[in-house]
Amino acid sequence: MTAKLIDGNEVSASLRTELASRIQMLKEDGGPTPGLAVVLVGADPASQVYVKSKHKRATEIGMNSFEHFLPEDTAEADLLDLVDRLNRDPDVNGILVQLPLPKQINAERVLERIDPAKDVDGFHPINVGRLATGGEALVSCTPLGCLILLKRELGSLAGKRAVVVGRSNIVGKPMAQLLLRESATVVIAHSKTENLPEECRNADILVAAVGRPEMIKGDWIKPGAVVIDVGINRVPAAEPGKTRLVGDVAFAEAVEVAGAITPVPGGVGPMTIAVLLRNTLEACCRQHGLQFHEVL
Ligand code: NAP
Repeated sequence: MTAKLIDGNEVSASLRTELASRIQMLKEDGGPTPGLAVVLVGADPASQVYVKSKHKRATEIGMNSFEHFLPEDTAEADLLDLVDRLNRDPDVNGILVQLPLPKQINAERVLERIDPAKDVDGFHPINVGRLATGGEALVSCTPLGCLILLKRELGSLAGKRAVVVGRSNIVGKPMAQLLLRESATVVIAHSKTENLPEECRNADILVAAVGRPEMIKGDWIKPGAVVIDVGINRVPAAEPGKTRLVGDVAFAEAVEVAGAITPVPGGVGPMTIAVLLRNTLEACCRQHGLQFHEVL
């Protein structure tokens, strides 16, 4: 079998097009323009690239984008003051503080200071708790992006056996909660899981969020399974001095067994920013008492 490739570039582009038309309609009806504030502390080059592309994508779809660049030696109190100002600003519907933060700043304290209604990253304990208890939550962008890909592929996930490899707060745990919300039967595997290949072989849906290059082999995959590879790992390329990106799944082997699979790059990666924009629109609608219709 050769698996169908799940094209995250295509899905994220169609999601952004849908968001742009919803925002256009909102404006035409005299409604608010959704606003996203992104805060970057320091000059980490990878973070600067992420922040710039968030700004570009937000403005492209008609959102307001507010960027705040703070120096590396920013005191925690100053960052908390900025978060407080953004919490109060009615033009800002979503706040994202880019991680990692410099060591003098306690990231947990900063993330917990963000108004849960504006927490478009879905990291605030209130949103994490609401996701777990079935409430109305803003959900972490990467796992929600994976869920969108899965639902587009499979329709209903009810009764499917899903294995999530990885239990981080950012990906693995919210992914498992989302799958449970969709009535899948969920196993969460991690570094202490015994007989991981066997666990994976039972999965109709296999989500890999480990951070270990090509750890999941082709013979760990149930024939026909849908495989979502969240991993982004930089490894040496054939050409000396060059690197390339690979996922947590051994793609060349997996593609022969799976029914559908996300490539790396071009699978889950492009979904994250699109979902951030989706979350900002959702936050804006809720803050204005407007109904938010799911964008899938
Ligand atoms: P993380 O916080 O390092 O968590 C990794 C998880 O993998 C942990 O739960 C760990 O288990 C588990 N693990 C490690 N070694 C394992 C093994 N040998 N067998 C089974 N489980 C093992 O990583 P993360 O933040 O979730 O990110 C995971 C990957 O996704 C990374 O490659 C990251 O770059 C990528 N990522 C991509 C996006 C995106 O596409 N936009 C976003 C976020 C992350 P323990 O808990 O037992 O240690």
